Amino acid sequence: MDKKGHLIVISGFSGVGKGTVVKNLVDKYGYSLSISATTRAPREGEVDGREYYFKSVADFQNLIDYNGFIEWAQYVDNYYGTPRKFVETEMAEGRDVILEIEVQGAMNVKRQYPDAILIFIAAPNAEVLKERLAGRGTETEEVINKRMKRAAEESHDIDEYDYIVVNDDLDQCVQDVNSIIVCKKCMRENNLSFIEDIKRELQMK
Ligand code: 5GP
Repeated sequence: MDKKGHLIVISGFSGVGKGTVVKNLVDKYGYSLSISATTRAPREGEVDGREYYFKSVADFQNLIDYNGFIEWAQYVDNYYGTPRKFVETEMAEGRDVILEIEVQGAMNVKRQYPDAILIFIAAPNAEVLKERLAGRGTETEEVINKRMKRAAEESHDIDEYDYIVVNDDLDQCVQDVNSIIVCKKCMRENNLSFIEDIKRELQMK
C-alpha cells in the first residue's frame, strides 16, 4: 500500500445520521477524523475541540486570511471550515482522514485533491429525513424547515459524488462505507509506488 493517507469526504443531508456513521467508522476501523471550526453556537452536550472548534466570526475570518483552512463554506447562517494543519499532517503520516462536510466544501476538496473519495449518505426517502430532523429535538421548526429546503437544494449535488450509501440500517451503512474506502485504496493506481518497490525487490532476489 502506498504510504500517504487518503482523504475521505462524507456528506449527506442534515439529519441523515452521518455523524453517527462517521463515529462508528472512527471507532471500528480507526480512521482519523478532522474536527472542523464553526461559527455556530454549540448544541447541548457539544464540547469545544470534540465536535467542533467553536469560533467567533472574527476568529474564523482570521483563519481564512491566514490560509488556515483547506476549505470553508457558509451553511444556513453559519461558517464551517476544515483546519489545514491537522489534515495535512495526518495524511503525510499515512493516516486516512475523514472530513464530514457539506456539498460546497466537498467540491472544493475534490478540486484540490482529485484522489479524495467522495461519499454521500442518503436517507431512504424524504419523509424519513424530515422525521429524523424533527426527532433530534434540538432544532426549532424554523431551522428544520430551512434544513429541509437546503436538503432539496443539496439533492441536485448528489450527482457530484462518487458513491451513494443509504443509511437505513446503521451497521450496514458503516460497513458499506468502509468497503468503499478499502476498495478504493486497493486500486492499482493508488499503489504505484508499492508495485515499483516490490518489482525492484524481486529483481534483486
Ligand atoms: P451541523 O451544524 O449540523 O453540525 O452541520 C451543518 C453542516 O455543515 C453539515 O452538513 C456538516 O457536514 C457541515 N460541515 C461541518 N463541518 C464542515 C466543514 O469544515 N466544512 C464544510 N464545508 N462543511 C462542514
